[in-house]
Amino acid sequence: ASSGLIVSFGEMLIDFVPTVSGVSLAEAPGFLKAPGGAPANVAIAVTRLGGKSAFVGKLGDDEFGHMLAGILKQNGVQADGINFDTGARTALAFVTLRADGEREFMFYRNPSADMLLKPEELNLDLIRSAKVFHYGSISLIVEPCRSAHLKAMEVAKEAGALLSYDPNLRLPLWPSAEEAKKQIKSIWDKADVIKVSDVELEFLTGNPKIDDESAMSLWHPNLKLLLVTLGEKGCNYYTKNFRGSVGAFHVKTIDTTGAGDSFVGALLTKIVDDQAIIQDEARLKEVLRFACACGAITTTKKGAIPALPTEADALTLIKG
Ligand code: ADP
Repeated sequence: ASSGLIVSFGEMLIDFVPTVSGVSLAEAPGFLKAPGGAPANVAIAVTRLGGKSAFVGKLGDDEFGHMLAGILKQNGVQADGINFDTGARTALAFVTLRADGEREFMFYRNPSADMLLKPEELNLDLIRSAKVFHYGSISLIVEPCRSAHLKAMEVAKEAGALLSYDPNLRLPLWPSAEEAKKQIKSIWDKADVIKVSDVELEFLTGNPKIDDESAMSLWHPNLKLLLVTLGEKGCNYYTKNFRGSVGAFHVKTIDTTGAGDSFVGALLTKIVDDQAIIQDEARLKEVLRFACACGAITTTKKGAIPALPTEADALTLIKG
């Protein structure tokens, strides 16, 4: 288990997911309430693996907001960075599972509480105590949470935290693709560790070829580690001194929601107390194998949070 604190900043919401595919939520015989939001998933991925994490963000002061805060606490995530908005409600997503397995989302965000986090509401002492500060992009979409995001990043960096960024692009939430690109690029060179999916790599580079050249076009001089996740093909890694890939584990995939968050949570848990791992290819590869195992396990169950593995689960898969 690790002991350094990983602070995860951003949104947490509830997905309403129909129990059957191919129909809208309104036509489905039933639905499940699946708590999620990439930064919250990462925070729980860390504690499930025995690490220490805190979530920073805003929820509505309503039954859903308190339910979500309760889920974080039950999972051992520190909740003293959570604010509750008395005016706006917790973000909700209504999901349609298309017959081809893809998901379509309709969001209640007009505005939802997460978007109303203000810089002056941040728990700065908590953020300063982070060894790793992790964040996505959704909080860059509008003010005031964009300013809160930028301030939290700055405070964490000043206090010496490793900054970890997963753009977690949800294009339908942005006013335009150009705006998404602009905001993502505006914070790109602040991060020490960046994880993108193959889809995000293509979006950011405009190059449909997922290769080393396209990944390296995203490199910035202060970056320590760039990861490109490839779903059932594993991941590619890039550092200043070496690059390579790690294959995926073969599992019976049911629902890929949260695989990337599980991967990131595992990586951060393994490097938070020993960042020199990033410079050591053999050790980094071992950590990425562990992260790939965690990602794979997360695809074997419905939903993100219930499917996040323990360290023992991951070691069992690795040992075969
Ligand atoms: P994201 O959720 O960000 O798109 P991926 O889907 O690429 O990220 O998943 C992250 C990691 O989880 C991958 O690098 C891989 O190791 C593992 N993973 C994801 N999907 C599968 C799958 N179908 N089978 C095995 N491993 C998977």
